[in-house]
Amino acid sequence: MDMEPVRDRRSRSGNGKAPLPASRRPDRAEAEEAVRTLIRWAGDDPAREGLRGTPERVVRAFSEFFSGYDSDPVELLQRTFSEIDGYDEMVVLKDIRFESHCEHHIAPIIGKAHVAYLPDKRVVGISKLARLVELYARRLQIQEKMTAQIANTLCEVLQPKGAAVVIEAAHQCMTTRGVHKPGVTMVTSSMLGAFRTDSNTRREFLAMIGTPGTHGLDNV
Ligand SMILES: [Zn+2]
Repeated sequence: MDMEPVRDRRSRSGNGKAPLPASRRPDRAEAEEAVRTLIRWAGDDPAREGLRGTPERVVRAFSEFFSGYDSDPVELLQRTFSEIDGYDEMVVLKDIRFESHCEHHIAPIIGKAHVAYLPDKRVVGISKLARLVELYARRLQIQEKMTAQIANTLCEVLQPKGAAVVIEAAHQCMTTRGVHKPGVTMVTSSMLGAFRTDSNTRREFLAMIGTPGTHGLDNV
């Protein structure tokens, strides 16, 4: 297969804010000190034995939770395959489990994403679709924004006839605090191109993923 590099559009990448340059990020020691402050704020003593290693562990967990700031979504999809032998059917990857964090409470958002596009001239390796979801999940998010970012990036880079993203997720800021409503699933969708204009295409996609919000998130 031919590999066709997509021209660099890094400046517009991600249709969101560019990650903070490394020079403006606090260093690890400052981040650990911030965790100590929060422990004191909660009413405990960061110097007691059980908590002594906690700031370091929390900072390490943060590096994992928010590793999506260090990757460029456009670059991720750069390697596309242009020789697709006339394949013009929908490509669907469903039930992509993800863990994200809400930008209002830094509380976990756990859910599934379903991603589809209708190829025009190029396709991308299917694992890249899952990695695209993960990249945006590993940032501070709101579900609506994450849904749009995935669909927009697919359209921008692959220039397909259309792209669709449905996300169903549970927000721990709703289930463990605030209104305390466990079992509530939020469903968001972004339909672009043919998925927006052609009801048959949209129906086909929705039939493939099943009705969101009805099968629960027990298996995620
Ligand atoms: Zn929240």
